[in-house]
Amino acid sequence: MKNLWQKKFEKVLIDDKVKDSPTALRFLEVFGEQVEIIEGEPKDIQKKELSAGQFTQSKKQLYLTEFKGQFFKKCPGFHKGLACCNYFVLNLGFQCDMDCSYCYLQSFLNSNYMTVYTNIEDALAELASFESLKDQPVRVGTGEVIDSLSLDPITLYSRTLIDFFKDYPQWKLEFKTKSALVDQFLDCEHNGNTIVSWSINPPAVIDNEEHGTATFHERLAAAERCRDKGFQISFHIDPMIWHPNWQDSYALLVDEICQRFSPQEVPTLSVGTLRFQPEQKNMMRERFAMDSFVNQAETFKGKDGKLRYSYDLRKEMYDFVLTRFKNHSPAWRIFMCMESPETWVDTFGHTPHHEKPLKELFQPIR
Ligand code: SF4
Repeated sequence: MKNLWQKKFEKVLIDDKVKDSPTALRFLEVFGEQVEIIEGEPKDIQKKELSAGQFTQSKKQLYLTEFKGQFFKKCPGFHKGLACCNYFVLNLGFQCDMDCSYCYLQSFLNSNYMTVYTNIEDALAELASFESLKDQPVRVGTGEVIDSLSLDPITLYSRTLIDFFKDYPQWKLEFKTKSALVDQFLDCEHNGNTIVSWSINPPAVIDNEEHGTATFHERLAAAERCRDKGFQISFHIDPMIWHPNWQDSYALLVDEICQRFSPQEVPTLSVGTLRFQPEQKNMMRERFAMDSFVNQAETFKGKDGKLRYSYDLRKEMYDFVLTRFKNHSPAWRIFMCMESPETWVDTFGHTPHHEKPLKELFQPIR
């Protein structure tokens, strides 16, 4: 495994200030002589809009430092015009060592280094300071601008977070990943409020669009290992991507999930279709050319400014997946992520606030 990590990154820089932190010491153990300890920021750091080449480069350059800002933020879906849940994000770094063609990091990342924050203790202190939220049904996800688990066998942040959340039974901690790296926390004692969730697509989409990620079957096998240790499991079929024979691909995905998991083992499932910021289009074309299904898509601007498939195609895709799940069992609970209340009404007949099992997820925090 050490060799695989070492091949993945061309450069590993550690800020001198954090070189003795437990996280930095673990990176030193894995990367050995490849590590360079530096004073402050890397000399060649770019803090501006990246070119396609610089973005690709940023996935191979790792920088460890501390974070001085606010770790804990409201989910970006919390915008006027979008239905959203009580979701908060906890960012312990940014950029990702995998490479999905549609990744939204391409539209806003402005550093040519993948960065990992070593001061997780400050993040936990910040979480603990939200006393008024302690008894609210808060969900905290760690996979907004960095995959929750792809570097976790080194950082071991999952273990620290699971331990912390044991004291917050009303809260839920969500790891969101496209990796299959879960074994480092399976022995942790937990109180059932950790959700391990996979962003999942059928093999045809993973092979074409989700480069460097775990395969479809690796992700499902990792989910089974988590379930067997009592962790909650969640799947985000998101972004659904149109491609020739998409119905066959998504039918396979739904059938496989239903064969391997029961609705009770997967309390929530979300679906979403392809969406991205218009300014991302050129970067995606330059990096993945027209072989990519996302670059072949016909898209239209929504109220939030993002490009999406037409309303009719989105509805057709949602209907297909929802019907397939409900044909397996009406007990499957599914919600749509980053969709307008209108799409909810047309697909479910009401907004999420009226769907009983989901009501709790969508109540605003007072
Ligand atoms: S796994 Fe997520 S964060 Fe990483 S490249 Fe893919 S979409 Fe982006």
